Amino acid sequence: MNQENSIVTRLDLCRRIESLPRVNIGHYPTPLEPCPRLSKALGGPKIYIKREDCSGVAFGGNKIRQLIFTIGEAMYQGADTIVHGATAQSNHCRQAAAVAAQLGLKCYLRLSRNHKSLVQGNLLLDHLTGANVELVDAPFGPELDVVKYAVADQLRADGLRPYVIAAPRSTALAAVAFSWCMAEIHQQQQEMGIEADLIYAGSAGGTQAGLILGSKALGMKLQSVGVSPIYWEDKIDRIQQAANSAAELLKLDIQIDGNEINNTDAYIGQAYGVLTPECIQALKIVAQMEGVFLDPVYTSKAFAGLIDHIRKGQISSDQTVIFLHTGGTPALFAYNQELTDVSI
Ligand SMILES: *Cc1c(COP(=O)(O)O)cnc(C)c1O
Repeated sequence: MNQENSIVTRLDLCRRIESLPRVNIGHYPTPLEPCPRLSKALGGPKIYIKREDCSGVAFGGNKIRQLIFTIGEAMYQGADTIVHGATAQSNHCRQAAAVAAQLGLKCYLRLSRNHKSLVQGNLLLDHLTGANVELVDAPFGPELDVVKYAVADQLRADGLRPYVIAAPRSTALAAVAFSWCMAEIHQQQQEMGIEADLIYAGSAGGTQAGLILGSKALGMKLQSVGVSPIYWEDKIDRIQQAANSAAELLKLDIQIDGNEINNTDAYIGQAYGVLTPECIQALKIVAQMEGVFLDPVYTSKAFAGLIDHIRKGQISSDQTVIFLHTGGTPALFAYNQELTDVSI
């Protein structure tokens, strides 16, 4: 395939994205902010933060952009009820519950019980939206999807029209959403007169898929570095499939190869959702240098990866890095114990 011929203009990419069913929610574009104090403290590259945590609904986060398309599809199909589920402190479920409330849809959440099932943070917010919330013993993954589809069957029998948010569809639509985020960055860079080299994001799925796809579609030099929050053996396949499904949905003449996906497991630590000393350090330095709060599960580990790459000299001081703040900050309140134990 001729690489050059597959590149599209920003306007063209945005038109393709806008042709898919969407709902009008959130505050976009999200800001792209310089972080001079943070850049100086780390003695490395120029750092900018793309503030998806400021996406405007229910404390923000990357899932609002994704829900524009998933709930867009649900409403296009005539759904009156959203069924979703993930882990107890799921940011995605909190954002889905809030968007459902905003749009007058019913919402059913089935959440996998874990060490963070306390009614704090995201789980507290889920309850406040009026969603039907149940903690279940099925682990996050295919087993939980079975529970979600069973709930949908029951709701259908009761005369409702449920839409289940689940992979792989939801991941492909996330990739569409983050190719659009890349188009925003393309425009913001032009306006600010910068051209970043790298974009860091805590992702093992649709977010990174969309960043890679968007950058390639627009012929940008911006390379995506994914820092995984979770050990998933098939993550490269998931990211690749999401990117290629999104390319198909957008009728782009682009294929993403597995070897174009740079995603590391090196900063997860013991497990998903378990803090590491490095992620606590990252959380504090960003709060203290810029007054920006990272989250304990995704962005703090991703930022720990960025700090480590700077320290190891993998990024030079004349380079420019964008850090994608994917949100998740309400989860901080479910981690108050761990975060206050480490001499504040
Ligand atoms: C869901 C989530 C991510 C990861 O998104 P992917 O689906 O893996 O792309 C990153 N950060 C936060 C805060 C999230 O809620």
